[in-house]
Amino acid sequence: MKYLSEFRDPTAVEKVIEKIKDISRKEYTIMEICGSQTHSILNSGIDALLPENVVLVHGPGCPVCVTPKEMIDTAIELAKMKENILFTYGDMLRVPGSKESLFQARGGGANIKMVYSPFDILDFAKNNPDKNVIFFGIGFETTTPANAMTILKAREMNLKNFYVLIAQFRVPPAISAILNDPFNKVQGFLAPGHVCTVMGTEEYIPIAEKYKVPIVVTGFEPLDLAEGIYMVIESLSNGEHGVKIQYKRSVRPEGNLKAKEIINKVFKIGNQKWRGIGEIPESGWVLKEEFEDMDARKLLNKKIEEIEETKEGCIAALILQGKKKPNDCELFAKTCTPLNPLGAPMVSSEGACAAYYKYKKYEN
Ligand code: SF4
Repeated sequence: MKYLSEFRDPTAVEKVIEKIKDISRKEYTIMEICGSQTHSILNSGIDALLPENVVLVHGPGCPVCVTPKEMIDTAIELAKMKENILFTYGDMLRVPGSKESLFQARGGGANIKMVYSPFDILDFAKNNPDKNVIFFGIGFETTTPANAMTILKAREMNLKNFYVLIAQFRVPPAISAILNDPFNKVQGFLAPGHVCTVMGTEEYIPIAEKYKVPIVVTGFEPLDLAEGIYMVIESLSNGEHGVKIQYKRSVRPEGNLKAKEIINKVFKIGNQKWRGIGEIPESGWVLKEEFEDMDARKLLNKKIEEIEETKEGCIAALILQGKKKPNDCELFAKTCTPLNPLGAPMVSSEGACAAYYKYKKYEN
């Protein structure tokens, strides 16, 4: 299959790994930002093939993992009001809130439904005018255009009972936050190819310049990832910094102009809280004033307090910042498993802890 099988060819991957071994003369710590990249690296065994002096750490690019607890608590409160129905993606259902997950709340009678596409909700809202229909949408820049389109379509349909609870994250400010940390060890980044397919690479150039780091926009197949790692190490070996594109079959420097136009019609850049990390300035998309009437939080008659406590022993926050790995956690694969997740990175299919459980639990 063109554009797929050739990027999963073990011989081609091994050749790039050999090139990495040839040029890796120092210690290198590289972060892949996206949870899908983490899963592909572990699934293909690339991390095990790399020389010991090349260390991969896993970044905060799993939207379920970084959605703050109070957002989940807010969604649950909304879903418990009898006049509301809340729709969300399946992998949000089991993420722990401060007291319970959406799944547990649904078992207790909260009105929560799973959805694959937010567009499906619009007809439901049209056919159920006596209910407030709420879309709990989270994600990075990849899902932002679809969420924006849904909101535009709801406005076009003149739906008065459609609301959104949005937690949308932007990758570049998170990279800056990691690099600003005085204890940071990350020397180079694999930026997420799908995010850059939408947004392009322009936002990454000033970061690479300011912090003198290589950032390589990388795809998700094993050969993509091996090449991305090689390109980062090549830059580090040559004392170079800047932004390069490995995922050229999808990413253009300017991104998808139409998608960006749709985002900018509905959203503006705002501060965003990340679970375990805290608020990062300008790291989110928030509704523009003309769409604030759709903000579901207006339906609540109380404010949900910010809660940042984690289960004792859970080191999710350190994992999301690349300071620890899942198998450094004492609870990993013992008391914390996908069936009994104690932190969000074990819940989400994109979470680093879930990836280690799937591919490396017997190494622990
Ligand atoms: S293994 Fe579980 S408890 Fe440990 S950091 Fe991951 S989510 Fe938290």
